Amino acid sequence: MERRLVSLVVVVIMAAVAGAATAADEGVVSDADLEATVREVLREVPLIDGHNDAPWAIRNRVSNHLADFDFRNTEALEKPMHTDIRRLRAGGVGGQFWSVWVPVELDHAEAVVTVIEQIDLVHRLTEAYPEDLELALTADDIVQIHSRGRIASLIGMEGGHSIDNSLAVLRRFYTLGVRYLTLTHWANTDWVDAATDTPEHDGLSPFGEVVVREMNRLGMLVDLSHVSAAGMRDVLDVSRAPVFFSHSCALALNSHPRNVPDDVLERIAEKGGVVMINFGSYFVDQKITERHAAYKAEETRLETLNPGDPQAVEDGMKAWLEANPLWTVPLAKLADHFDHVRKVAGVDHVGIGSDYDGISALPAGMEDVSGYPALLVELMRRGWSREDIAKVAGLNILRVMREAEAVAAELQKTEGPFEVRIDDDGYGEHEEASGN
Ligand SMILES: [Zn+2]
Repeated sequence: MERRLVSLVVVVIMAAVAGAATAADEGVVSDADLEATVREVLREVPLIDGHNDAPWAIRNRVSNHLADFDFRNTEALEKPMHTDIRRLRAGGVGGQFWSVWVPVELDHAEAVVTVIEQIDLVHRLTEAYPEDLELALTADDIVQIHSRGRIASLIGMEGGHSIDNSLAVLRRFYTLGVRYLTLTHWANTDWVDAATDTPEHDGLSPFGEVVVREMNRLGMLVDLSHVSAAGMRDVLDVSRAPVFFSHSCALALNSHPRNVPDDVLERIAEKGGVVMINFGSYFVDQKITERHAAYKAEETRLETLNPGDPQAVEDGMKAWLEANPLWTVPLAKLADHFDHVRKVAGVDHVGIGSDYDGISALPAGMEDVSGYPALLVELMRRGWSREDIAKVAGLNILRVMREAEAVAAELQKTEGPFEVRIDDDGYGEHEEASGN
């Protein structure tokens, strides 16, 4: 009896000590401490975001007139932006792929001109704010620009429609500084299917294969965000360099067709690539995706019920929105995508691809480009180490860029520019490849 009592007391004391130790640990590793660690990491390693749509937002607001615009602070604009230099600095950003996206609705020639205007805008931004921004063309450039205390600015092109089915145009975009091409946007191109369109090519067409091979030879990264799952798998078969996603979430957590299936996550890892995760609530949270689908269905229903009466549709949608208000997704939901990609692909294959200024709803605390440290603190709270944080922030994409640069240097020893045209025999939309 007495022995049992003693045992019980010992157990109680041990439990109390364990509890005290846990509380003490929690006290030691406060959020402030974790943020200090994150800030330290971001001084050593550039935080590189894979996708930001500020160039289109600037076109949208001031028609690319930089004289009418202050990129240091865009909060006072009539339509505020997620991005400006002040908040990029607050967010610890060291490198940014600026997206030179143009709408798929533009006809091809118009798309080419518009992309060139957007590329010109990124060049002019870096020239207008030389103390803060500097154009980067290689992984080494990013590291050096970061060490000079500036934000390395890279150009990523979104949507294969922008090359007008011409490898010559693709090559000249490389010389203008473009370092990745997202093969599609929302619609199919003439040579690869998009995730959000009706399949036409069963993935990548024979001409699409040549586009990928030429990108490998140039050292332009192949971006699979927006591409159909069949297209992702075809590119993984064909590419001679690591490929990546500049702004995509995990399909296992939200069945949006834009998100990445687990088998592709595994293959991205085998290929040495990286999945840079989108922050948009619409891609993060299954329930927001479902709400959006319900919104679209209601709109279609009202349009059918009220032909030629847009006011009735507008009134009906207003009532629907009042009955179905949008909510803010907790940061934890976004962090779950990082945990999932890490679990399936590994910590060497996770990155950040916010999609700021290209999306509307964002998780709590991630409303603008000052939010990155909060995300990294959340990951550290979940057990990600200092080294893991350095990888997700920048080391993983730097490794991918270096590998793609090395592959290109090697290929250029033996391969010249591809001279295939999309209307050459064997390279048409539905024909089988007959040669190189
Ligand atoms: Zn996009």
